[in-house]
Amino acid sequence: MLLETLIVGPLGVNCYIVGDEKTREALVIDPGGNARDILDTLRREQLRLVAIVATHAHFDHLLALDEIRAATRAPFLLHADEASTLANASLGARLFGFAFRSPAPAERLLREGDAVRIGSLALNVLHTPGHSPGGMCLLHDKSIFVGDTLFQGGIGRADLPGGDYGTLMRSIRDKLLTLPDDTVVYPGHGDATTIGEERQLNPFLRPLRTGQWEV
Ligand SMILES: [Zn+2]
Ligand SMILES: [Zn+2]
Repeated sequence: MLLETLIVGPLGVNCYIVGDEKTREALVIDPGGNARDILDTLRREQLRLVAIVATHAHFDHLLALDEIRAATRAPFLLHADEASTLANASLGARLFGFAFRSPAPAERLLREGDAVRIGSLALNVLHTPGHSPGGMCLLHDKSIFVGDTLFQGGIGRADLPGGDYGTLMRSIRDKLLTLPDDTVVYPGHGDATTIGEERQLNPFLRPLRTGQWEV
């Protein structure tokens, strides 16, 4: 798996470019800005973009979406439960003081158990609501792209429209902490980490460690 990380946009989103070394097909995850840089990286690495995915539809993860869509004609993939977040992305942007037009609907809607195929790579879709209703993670071998579900030493906000703390904790417990400790976590913001490190050290997961928090 080829992996390039670009920190993009006004809120510092990690945009990941995942490619298959053999076929040179690639996927862009979370095109949160700097469309020119993303397109230049694809060109430099001689990668052909076959799909664009957003882990969820908050505006900061979408700022370069329409420009990259127009330039490459690659389809946009989003979890089915995130369609209304996408439609309301402009409102979310306004909340943060940004003018942004909600992008057109996704070309393909994903659900738990689906796979996004890039050449010989398959990234498996895990539905992880809580930060947003249709938040999802993409798992390939020992790498997982988690969007704003989990961060190094943190968890996603649950106070935005459609967010829910209990749902977020359940998603992390049932979908992420069930993965092997050496799984590398690529979050939507900040540094990469591992499932093992977060399981042990993340202060926001203490309620799960101590059994204080039950569903
Ligand atoms: Zn978000
Ligand atoms: Zn974000």
